[in-house]
Amino acid sequence: MLIRVDELEIGKPKRIAIKGSEDWLSPIYEQFRSAPRQEVPVLTGNLSVNLLDACIQVEGEYTFSPSVKCSRCSASMNWPIHERLDLYFSLQADDLSARERDLTAKDLDDYFLLDNQVDLESVLNESVQLSLPLRLKCDQCKAKSEDDVVYSSDKEGQESLHPFAKLRELKLSD
Ligand SMILES: [Zn+2]
Repeated sequence: MLIRVDELEIGKPKRIAIKGSEDWLSPIYEQFRSAPRQEVPVLTGNLSVNLLDACIQVEGEYTFSPSVKCSRCSASMNWPIHERLDLYFSLQADDLSARERDLTAKDLDDYFLLDNQVDLESVLNESVQLSLPLRLKCDQCKAKSEDDVVYSSDKEGQESLHPFAKLRELKLSD
């Protein structure tokens, strides 16, 4: 969903209630497509787009349980996300060269407008991506790795007594 700067007035935030069935959400749903028989997770939330002096503020919150894969066993699972957003899009992007824009964006952790509009789909898409951990583990794999930790701390205590502990570890860790 594109919000154009010239649709906005200072002091009159544009409020968007996201019910989950909006067409503009489909790139996000495509990205986190669930297995055929699973229920399709919907993204819901409330955003408000405010025109301030030199920037546009996008704030609000959303809830989404995208379908993701466990990075250890590849099992599909839903990953519940509830995020608050508070982002600022600078209006002066046109005055800066692309290089300056990059530097400034990095320094200020700020965003610039493209063609004088805010794309709420990419705002949400990026936020979903950023809120997912790099390594996702399903409950089973999480339980397994907790077992590993218990085992290795136990082993450490006895290591000095058992010179072949390292060999045993090699066999068992597979
Ligand atoms: Zn797993």
